[in-house]
Parts: sequence; C-alpha cells; structure tokens
Amino acid sequence: MEFLRLRGIGVSPGIVQGEAVLAESVRFPARKSYIPPHRVEEELARLRAALAETREGLAALKREVGARIGEDHAFIFDAHRLILEDRVLLDGLEKLIREENVDSETALAEMHEHYRKIFEAIEDEYFRERQSDVTDVLGKVVRNLSAGKEAGIEEVRGRILVAHDLLPSEAALRMSRGKVLAVALDMGGPTSHVAILARSLNIPTVVGLHDISQKIQSGDTLIVDGTDGEVLVHPPPTVRKEFLSKKEKYDNYRRDLRKVARLRSATLDGVRFFPMANIELPEEVGNALSYGAEGIGLFRSEYIYLQRSSLPSEEDHLEVYARLAQETHPRPVYIRTVDIGGDKSLPQLQIEKEPNPALGLRAIRFSLRTQDLFRVQLRAILRASVPGNLRILIPMITEIEEITEVKAIFSEVKTELRGQGIPFDEKIPLGIMIEVPAAAAISDILIKEVDFFSIGTNDLIQYHLAVDRSNEFVSYLYKPLHPSVLRLVRFIIATALKEGKDVAVCGEMAADPLSAIMLLGFGLRRFSMNPIFIPRVKKALRAVDVRTVRRIVNQALELRSAQEVEEHLIEKLLIKHPDAFFLGQ
Ligand code: PEP
Ligand code: MG
Repeated sequence: MEFLRLRGIGVSPGIVQGEAVLAESVRFPARKSYIPPHRVEEELARLRAALAETREGLAALKREVGARIGEDHAFIFDAHRLILEDRVLLDGLEKLIREENVDSETALAEMHEHYRKIFEAIEDEYFRERQSDVTDVLGKVVRNLSAGKEAGIEEVRGRILVAHDLLPSEAALRMSRGKVLAVALDMGGPTSHVAILARSLNIPTVVGLHDISQKIQSGDTLIVDGTDGEVLVHPPPTVRKEFLSKKEKYDNYRRDLRKVARLRSATLDGVRFFPMANIELPEEVGNALSYGAEGIGLFRSEYIYLQRSSLPSEEDHLEVYARLAQETHPRPVYIRTVDIGGDKSLPQLQIEKEPNPALGLRAIRFSLRTQDLFRVQLRAILRASVPGNLRILIPMITEIEEITEVKAIFSEVKTELRGQGIPFDEKIPLGIMIEVPAAAAISDILIKEVDFFSIGTNDLIQYHLAVDRSNEFVSYLYKPLHPSVLRLVRFIIATALKEGKDVAVCGEMAADPLSAIMLLGFGLRRFSMNPIFIPRVKKALRAVDVRTVRRIVNQALELRSAQEVEEHLIEKLLIKHPDAFFLGQ
C-alpha cells in the first residue's frame, strides 16, 4: 500500500493516528432511467414515501442536534424542511415523472442540476454556497429511495472521518455524536462551519485536501496532523515513529497549557490581571474556560445572523445570550452588538455592495440605520442579563452623537421591558469599542458617557496606520508596536483609568506576549484574545513585575520605530526571562 503525504489546511490542532471511515457522499444517478407509463402513479407514491421519510428524518435530526449541541446548530433543519416543502420543487418532480416517464432518482438528479445552474449564477458567495443545502436535502431523498438507506453514522466513533465535504446538517451531527477522532475533508476553509465546530469540540481537523476522499478507503490507517495541516496515508513505521514523537511533544505542550490555565493570573509582584476569551459561538465557552479564560471579553454576535437563512428572532438571540450568561457565570460576558455590513454582508438583507466597505455602513452605523434589528438584539441581551454578568459592547463608535443615540434607544427598550414586567439587570454596563482613531483621540470625552472601553486594536491599527488588515501586500506595515499606535493605546487606557472605569484590549495585540507586557505597563489588566493564546500570555505576564515593566515601557516610548521597540523588549524581557515565553519545552 502506497504511502501518501497530503497537504491541506489545519483548522483544528492536534495529532492522531487511526482508522479511516469514508463518509458516503451523495450520488445522483448520471444516466436517466425510465419507467413504463402505466407505473407513473406507483412511482409517484414511491417518491412521496421517500419525501415523507426524509421529512421525518429531518425532524428527528433537529431534535437530536438541538439536544446535543444547542438549538442554533439545529436551525439548518428548518431550512431543509422548507426546501422539501417548496412547491416549485415538488411540482417539478411530479412533472418530470408524469411527462417524461423518468424514475424518481432521475427526476431528483434533474431538479438538482436545474438548481445547481441557478445557484452557480449567483454572485453573492453566501447565497451561492446555499447550493450545498439543496444537495443535502435532495441527496437524502435519493438515499431514502434506495434499500440501503442512510450510511451508518455510529461507526465514526473512535475513527477518522474522511469525506468530500460535510454538508451542514452532517457536520453538526456526525461531529457531536460519539467521539470522532479526527476529520479530513477535500473541501472547506478555516472559517467554515466544520472548522469552527471542530475547534470548539477539540477534534483535530484538516480541510482543503482536494481529493483525499478519492485516494483512501474505509479501514486505511491515517495520521491527521491538524496542527500543521497534513494527512499521512499508510504511514510506514519510520514515519509513524516520527509522528508519535511529534504527538508526544504536542500533547506535552497541551498539558503545559492546561497547567498554566489553573495558575493564578497575577504578576510576580502580585498584581491581578484578567485573561479573557474572544469567541464566536456559545459552544466555545467550555473550551475557553479550560484555557484559563476568566470571562468572555468579546462575543462576536454576527454569527447569530450568519448561521441562519432568515433574520434571527428575539428568542433566537435570547437563547444564545442566556446560555452564555449561564455557562460563564459568575465571570463576565461582553456581548458586542452586531458588527455587520461592509465586508461581512448580511445575507438576509439586500445590502448593496459598497465601494469602500471598511469605511462604510458597518457595525453601529448599520445598527442605527436598521433600528428594528438593533432593538431586537438589545431586548434579548437585557432579557438574558438577569444573572448579572452580561455587559453590552458597541462597535465602531466614531463620535459622541452615536453614543447619545444608542443610549436613547437603550433607555426606550428598558422602559418597554419594565412596562411589560420583564426583569433585567438594571445595572448592566454599557461600553464602547475604541477602534476608530477619531474616537481614540477624544477618549477622554467619550469615557464620561460610558461604563467601560474595549480597545479593538485589529481595526484601530488598520485605520490609524492606513493598512488594510487583510491585504498581504501591505501587511509589512501592520505594526502593533509602531510608536504612534503605542501612544494612542496608552492614551486610551490612561483616560479610562483616570475616570476609574474598566478598560480591556480585545484585538490580537493582547495575544502577543511582548505586546501584552507593554499593555500591562500602560496599566491594562483585562486582556481578551483567541482562547488558545491565553496560556502563553498568562505565562509571560506571570513572569514579570509591574514596576520593572513600567520602567521598560517608559524607555520604549522614547524610541523611534516598531523595530527599535521590539528589540528593546526582546533585550530587556525575552533574553532575561526566556522561560516566560515558551511553553511545552
Ligand atoms: C478589533 O477590531 O480589534 C476587534 C476585536 O474586532 P474584530 O476583529 O471583530 O473587528
Ligand atoms: Mg473591529
């Protein structure tokens, strides 16, 4: 058996060896099959039975996925049911069987092809991708027509799931049921639903492998390296040994991470700090806490909108926030109101493409334009706030008028709830993101209007240095340690501290140990980041004392460039405390 080494994208870290199980992909018949005209009614009855079985199957899957990993992963099944009930589809199938005398499988294949062409022509990527839902549903009907029925799902337990792609309904189900050892897919990218789910469930996963599903068979031995994005098929003993030692190192590293997670978050001289997590799904809370997060410093609520095909209702929002509040309690959860518009378009609304999305109608600008949606979100956050640990965070504030408007709406929503006798946390803090340089420059004025700041350095650096954060051609200019960024961030932190208010950093800058030490020197105590970076930042902050850091930081502020600052920090910190910067050695 030939040894193969396949490269893909590692989207969830970890290394495992195991037996592959190939998920059967949906197959529509390539050739047309015909039925004699006198069997049309019989064929229609066969199709109706398969449709009914598919509907029942969807309802059962919805209940199961909802109970296992939450209702918001189960919404997909409602969308699928709607496809199944679509009159155009049903009439189309019946017409093909009656008028062309094809069998049900052929009729489904033809309708699938018809929809494929329609979807292919759609420009919007999100809608184009909904083609996979149609394939998902029609494929299920094809399966239910055959005697073999659904491929056994239980068998993935303890094995490596290999597939061309995981359809949205399958991803949630297969990955949550039993414990899949690892996942390897031909398709997919780092932000796909599968990738997000894999990370939150801690399943090593490699996607974008192109044709692994054609190269392997069930029962093959594989090594999946989700850390480096590789899959090895039939690894010979020498390669297995090499990977076993890599796995051991990685597992040690993970253990070291967990150990750090349990240590107290305080500097050498006992100054308490709070590492927190940036998350996108409520399922990530458990994982974040296990990395040592002492709260959710940023919940990006966009995903509530992006995960469904219709607009989320107040109850949809409420369910997510109530779960976050409960699972994180008594630690705080900062819920950021939707940061959509611009490059993240909202598929449910026809938002026009803007010439300059980063400077366009996004975040709070969008919310103030579509106030009905904003009120629904605020009501839900308030209703979920009873346990007392929720905070509201408003993104992309540019000027004081926006705060005034938000506060007016906020107070109207509160009055409405009081009038309806619905309880909420009367003292729920309202804060703003400082991520636009204009807001940073007047932060001493803005802080008087709000309860706290959270500094979004990802956008703040992008706008302040005029560097597109996702453009690789200018990424060499994207420098968190640029003296101009440092001055600005120091000023924001100082203004909040002077007013006795809370301030956090929730951009990636907080995840870099040297930058985090710099921020500590500015007086910052709340650091929110992707949870996997919490242990390394915590370890670094635990190894320094605030007095020394202040001195080093003050010296750094005299320097002229990011490079000089970095060299200074390396010389004064990294070389003096090498242990503080490395894990799992
Ligand atoms: C930021 O801008 O720093 C931030 C945390 O928000 P996002 O990355 O979601 O824009
Ligand atoms: Mg931002």
